[in-house]
Amino acid sequence: MSRPAIVALDDDPQVLAAVARDLRRRYGEDYRIVRATSGAEALETLGELVARGDTVALFVVDQRMPQMSGTEFLARAGADHPDAKKVLLTAYADTDAAISAINEIGLDHYLMKPWDPPEDHLYPVLDDLLEDWKAHVPVPYDGIRVIGARWSPDSYEVKDFLSRNQVPYRFMDIETEPEARTIASAGGSSPALPLVVFPDGTRLEHPDQRVLADHAGLQTAPSATHYDLVVIGAGPAGLGAGVYGASEGLRTAVIERHATGGQAGQSSRIENYLGFPKGISGGDLARRATAQAKRLGAEILTAVDATGVRVEDPTKIVTLNDGTELTCRALLIASGMTLRTLDVPGAEPLIGAGIWYGAAVAEAVTYRGEDVFVIGGANSAGQAAMMLSKFAGTVRLVVRGHSLEAKMSQYLIDQIAGTPNIEVLLNSQVADVAGEGHLERVTVRNRGDGSERTFDAAGLFIFIGARPHSDLVDGVVLRDDRGFILTGPDLKVDGAWPPSWTLDRDPFLLETSVPGIFAAGDVRANVVRRVASAVGQGAVAVSFIHKYLETA
Ligand SMILES: Cc1cc2nc3c(=O)[nH]c(=O)nc-3n(C[C@H](O)[C@H](O)[C@H](O)COP(=O)(O)OP(=O)(O)OC[C@H]3O[C@@H](n4cnc5c(N)ncnc54)[C@H](O)[C@@H]3O)c2cc1C
Repeated sequence: MSRPAIVALDDDPQVLAAVARDLRRRYGEDYRIVRATSGAEALETLGELVARGDTVALFVVDQRMPQMSGTEFLARAGADHPDAKKVLLTAYADTDAAISAINEIGLDHYLMKPWDPPEDHLYPVLDDLLEDWKAHVPVPYDGIRVIGARWSPDSYEVKDFLSRNQVPYRFMDIETEPEARTIASAGGSSPALPLVVFPDGTRLEHPDQRVLADHAGLQTAPSATHYDLVVIGAGPAGLGAGVYGASEGLRTAVIERHATGGQAGQSSRIENYLGFPKGISGGDLARRATAQAKRLGAEILTAVDATGVRVEDPTKIVTLNDGTELTCRALLIASGMTLRTLDVPGAEPLIGAGIWYGAAVAEAVTYRGEDVFVIGGANSAGQAAMMLSKFAGTVRLVVRGHSLEAKMSQYLIDQIAGTPNIEVLLNSQVADVAGEGHLERVTVRNRGDGSERTFDAAGLFIFIGARPHSDLVDGVVLRDDRGFILTGPDLKVDGAWPPSWTLDRDPFLLETSVPGIFAAGDVRANVVRRVASAVGQGAVAVSFIHKYLETA
């Protein structure tokens, strides 16, 4: 296969020569550097590349050019090369145009001229974009192939596991692709599906996650039996702790039962995580964070379930699902939770585009004067409705039950009753949501008579419950009545630490009722459930773990 192309476009020959030189020096071995001095010339060259079946990985384009500006060129070229990454070279005065281009043409990055030294200003950005491109570009035929039926749940599980662990594969539908049937029946057998075929010829029939992970090159076995820090869960909190723990000299193992990224890994676009003006998909964030944690020395075990925790003071012992036991000096529970999701037509593509799970604080101000919905009948939903009522035009609280009293505190019920722009829809459920690119309409069904009403809506905030993954520390650390882990000041009851806390010092922030066992992220009680919050807690937990280790 020919090398993918990087297209450099600048009307100034000197600048173009400098860009091409820097690109060739770093990427020349793996990519073909194609140059052009005008948009028209570049479009012609692209036509030739397309005709030859070549792919374009990246455009690096000057914004200020006569006849066709950089953004105009990228808008046209992007139509034929939707996967290629787009970078604008700008002067200071072009910043506004570049920021608009993020929304208008999906610009990935803009770089200020000059970019010297490239090691600091050019390569880090382009390395990142090219990694991203490689992760999403259709895989070559010689990669892993998954053969199964398109709508089969077992095939979905294998595809989901591979993609969430950033293992590229090509899916082949046994029902519609003759080549899939040929591969499956090779050797005269009729294998159990899904069948996973590796480049070395290995064939795995209906593999379980662990076997699949082993063959796909993911680490499933620890390299040691004792660690300074073991982290359970590789969502944002666990990965945050992995990065900080390993980079600060702690021998760190992170155990993940399914795929790194946790709940965040399932988000199609996270718009509110700092540093990504264009937003970032959960998968990309997970891939970057996993690579970072590994590079800094954390061991990440995938497809490994932590099934139990016990303490032989001061050592903490974690049992894994294959019976292996890991010992550690400090343990961090970052096992997150599972949200009950809204299972109605049209909801999935609108998550993050008007549909929000969990705390609404950050989004509330953006709904000034608009109509929003809150689903849920418990305190979290009531609090969100109250908070949103300060900004929104109308807040409609959709509750399945016949009254608020069953699950909500009286003070909130009273507040809601005294807030004219909150309307409570009892005995109701959301039946349908719709919108082009973002939420526009919500249909509510009355559970009694089945009648439906459709409202204009800009936001829908979902509070229909969550289940923390904390059973493995049941009876070991204190949890609240819903199973969320109590830490730091939350452990106090009537101003006193629990009787099991016998140390002279107070528990550290994020420390549980057992010295040396910490918790971070969504599995904690009374926490803001957000990616940034989870990452921050993972990092902060490590600083308290250092303090604990100094005193232990
Ligand atoms: C669909 C969706 C979209 C979201 N969008 C946004 C958004 O746009 N912006 C935002 O800020 N927040 C968003 N959130 C919330 C955000 O994703 C969470 O707050 C965040 O992921 C919490 O991180 P965590 O590490 O605490 O837990 P989690 O992300 O839940 O990760 C916990 C990990 O632990 C693993 N695990 C659990 N038990 C075990 C065990 N026994 N052994 C081994 N591993 C275990 C799980 O498999 C999981 O990978 C979204 C959530 C969802 C579900």
